Amino acid sequence: MRISMVSEHASPLAVLGGVDAGGQNVHVAALSTALARRGHEVCVYTRRDDAALPERVPLADGVEVVNVTAGPARPVPKDELFPYMNDLATGILDDWRRRRPDVVHGHFWMSGLAALTASCTEHLNHGGDRVPVVQTFHALGTVKRRHQGADDTSPAERERVEPWVARTVDTVLATCSDEVAELEAMGVDLAKVSVAPCGVDTTLLAPHGPAEARGRVHRIAVVGRLVPRKGTDLVIEALAQLTAAGRDDVELVIVGGSGGASAAEDPECLRLAALAKAAGVAERVSLRGSLAHDDLPQFFRSCDAVVCAPWYEPFGIVPLEAMACGVPVIAARVGGLTDSIVDGVTGLHVPPRDPAAIAAALIRILDDAPFARALGKAGRERTERLYTWDRVAQLTEEVYDRLLGASMARIEPAALVGL
Ligand code: UDP
Repeated sequence: MRISMVSEHASPLAVLGGVDAGGQNVHVAALSTALARRGHEVCVYTRRDDAALPERVPLADGVEVVNVTAGPARPVPKDELFPYMNDLATGILDDWRRRRPDVVHGHFWMSGLAALTASCTEHLNHGGDRVPVVQTFHALGTVKRRHQGADDTSPAERERVEPWVARTVDTVLATCSDEVAELEAMGVDLAKVSVAPCGVDTTLLAPHGPAEARGRVHRIAVVGRLVPRKGTDLVIEALAQLTAAGRDDVELVIVGGSGGASAAEDPECLRLAALAKAAGVAERVSLRGSLAHDDLPQFFRSCDAVVCAPWYEPFGIVPLEAMACGVPVIAARVGGLTDSIVDGVTGLHVPPRDPAAIAAALIRILDDAPFARALGKAGRERTERLYTWDRVAQLTEEVYDRLLGASMARIEPAALVGL
């Protein structure tokens, strides 16, 4: 089948670990590639953020990235991209003239709007069957607003447009049970919600292989975009509590965001460094900056535990990556982490925003090597069983297949419904 993916801000070709480049980029790249391995033809539409980018870039056999001009051809924060979604839809429609897809799959709320606009405009112009629209939100504005309040920089339009996208698409593909509950609370008809989790590349991220050299102290790590909601400061506080309790044998390595010379321009990096200094643990904390995805396995293998302490987490691919490498995970009991980590089996759950609980969980894992090994082994098994991208692609393909056999309801263009 011919599949259009729309991922407005998250190009599968982007460098990861920056403020707006993380799980969605990985998800779109890996899902598209896994679908192509199953014999499908995938085109990923993303916004051109560099004038020098060619229009079409091959990503893998059967997967092509199309850089659509929509807004300035330079990096623009994702929360400022809403005005360009019509141009993105127009670019997608232009390309559909060459090859009309069998299904279009939007990633993030704004891509959902562009996908719906393209689907209903193509239908109005040419008649026939409408291209079915599948939507993965990756994050929901309602949840973000609940946790970030006035610090939420999403455009005002998100409050109206996101629920409209959720109600109007043909299928919402939720990534975890917590998201299903959030969608229900938004008034989305659960009959059109299916679940397919995010995945992990279990071949790349595996327990056996080279590990980064390290000292004799225990190594714990945080990996991800360096944004406040990931709760990296809570892990620094937990480390400070361990140190105050006389544990001087633990180091914390933080991967993501800026490192080296550019760290000085990264506000979150500066904030975390200042916090470590104030807590008296600066010499035990290293801020590495982003690591290339291919270098992560070696890094994970050097860790005794990976801590994920977000305030909220729509899914969270990093814990799957640690589990795939056989590393125990300490995770806040929020969002997707409630599905992916089994407490006491593949890692330990802690209440959100609770450094003392993180410190206690660390002691349990660091001081009990057989327990840590058992957690790591069970984590690996769980990723192999439930979270390979091949399985995620198969679940996604089933959703596409169901839509191909159905007749699509008419969609009123966003402008007509006052959006
Ligand atoms: N990542 C990376 N290098 C970094 C930081 C992050 O490759 O320096 C990757 C990480 O391995 C994971 C993704 O970015 O695949 C982050 O996804 P996650 O779902 O954990 O968080 P999100 O970015 O969606 O909030």
